[in-house]
Parts: sequence; C-alpha cells; structure tokens
Amino acid sequence: MLTTATDQAAHHDTERAAVPSRTLLLNASGDPLCIVTLHRAVVLVMTGKATVLESDGRVLHSSRFEMPAPVVLVLTRYVHVPHRRPVPPTRRTVLQRDDHRCAYCGGGADTVDHVQPRSRGGRHEWGNVVAACRRCNHRKADRTLHELGWELPFRPRAPRWSMTVGGAAGRADPAWSRYLVA
Ligand SMILES: [Zn+2]
Repeated sequence: MLTTATDQAAHHDTERAAVPSRTLLLNASGDPLCIVTLHRAVVLVMTGKATVLESDGRVLHSSRFEMPAPVVLVLTRYVHVPHRRPVPPTRRTVLQRDDHRCAYCGGGADTVDHVQPRSRGGRHEWGNVVAACRRCNHRKADRTLHELGWELPFRPRAPRWSMTVGGAAGRADPAWSRYLVA
C-alpha cells in the first residue's frame, strides 16, 4: 500500500493529496512512449528500468522504499519502437497540442483555425492549424495574419506524441507539455 508523506497534513485537501495516477514514460532518448499507471511506474523505478525525471514534490512511502511521486519517468535504457503513424491534426489533437488555448488571444479555445485560410490555399496540416477561441476564429475569418496585423506566439508543429499518448491520455497533464511538443 502506497501512501504519501503529505497524506495526513493534506487530509482536508483531497485535491492536493491525490498522488498522480498517470505518469508519462519517456524513452531514454527523451521521446514520449506512453502513459503508465502509478503501479507500473513504481515497478519500473523499483526494478531500475526507469528513473523519476519530474515529481510533483511529494514522496511515496511503503514499508520498504520511498521515491518521489512520479509525473514524468525516463527509461534507463533506450528501447527501439517501431515507426508509428503520425497523429493527424484533428480538432481534438490540435486542441490538445495547444493546451486548449487560443493562439491569438490566449483565452480558452474550442475551435481549430487554419492560419493560412483554406479558401486562400492553406492546407490542413500541423504547420497551418492552431487552437482558437470562437471569437478570434470568427474575427479572423478568411483573412491572413498579415492582413490583420496579428502574430502567432509560436510556430505550429506536429506534436511528438503517438496515438497511444494522445489517445489514451485524454487531456495531458500540464507537466507533460514540454515533452509532448517538438
Ligand atoms: Zn481568441
């Protein structure tokens, strides 16, 4: 049975007391591999197959060991992974890549905008899609950023996560984001 050091202190605060139930597992190269359960994460660390790269600051205790509560793990040895199909840009995957933030105003986004409008030859590819709020999407309409004098805060790129990570994880833990975007 695993408990955290802060269990008692944070007893009144279940939000903070919750140990991360999902851990992002990186290959030794730093590339994201998959999401593992806390149990699997503990086994990987205890058997020396992975080390904790990022923790939420709490410590897991059992009678025989203690380790930082893992948010991101990295394998100690590189495992070869067969080439996986890149994730296509869909509403869900684009919103996930951009953390549901509008690229134009930074507000909550629930639509996808083609930076170079499709009606003006813009393609539906990772480099041309961003998450956008309805308001910005509507304001932008069929115009280019240049015409509007708008700028993108980042260069849109394909995410590094596989179907496994992007699909099974639902909304990614914010602590994972820098590992998930190239
Ligand atoms: Zn917006």
